Amino acid sequence: MAGEPQADCLFCKIIAKEVPATVVRETETTVAFRDINPQAPTHVLVIPKAHYPDAASLAAAEPLIAADILREAGEVAAGEEIDGSGYRVVFNTGAGAGQTVFHAHAHVLGGRGLNWPPG
Ligand code: IMP
Repeated sequence: MAGEPQADCLFCKIIAKEVPATVVRETETTVAFRDINPQAPTHVLVIPKAHYPDAASLAAAEPLIAADILREAGEVAAGEEIDGSGYRVVFNTGAGAGQTVFHAHAHVLGGRGLNWPPG
């Protein structure tokens, strides 16, 4: 059923605490934890507790939870004190865009200068 945990999903295992993660924030609908391979001084992933393979399918099925992800990205930035200097929120969507974990997630990146366009 849509949104249900998937046995073979790494991020569902992090939500279930079967895989350890450094959690920085948790709400009823979301978890935020540090990326294991950080690309910036702050690199936090914000994920929905419901399983959807990417941000587009999450937003189509659960727009309020998609909004929760964006709000939590801002809360993470404020908590890391990067909201004043600028930060980036990224949803890699599809393997061609670099998505490697097919459970919707926002990358929150900051704490250094960020170039545009991204690679
Ligand atoms: P994607 O490439 O946009 O799908 O992002 C997946 C992210 O998950 C990558 O930045 C990985 O470094 C990160 N990642 C993979 N495994 C773990 C883990 O066990 N804990 C925290 N982050 C992870």
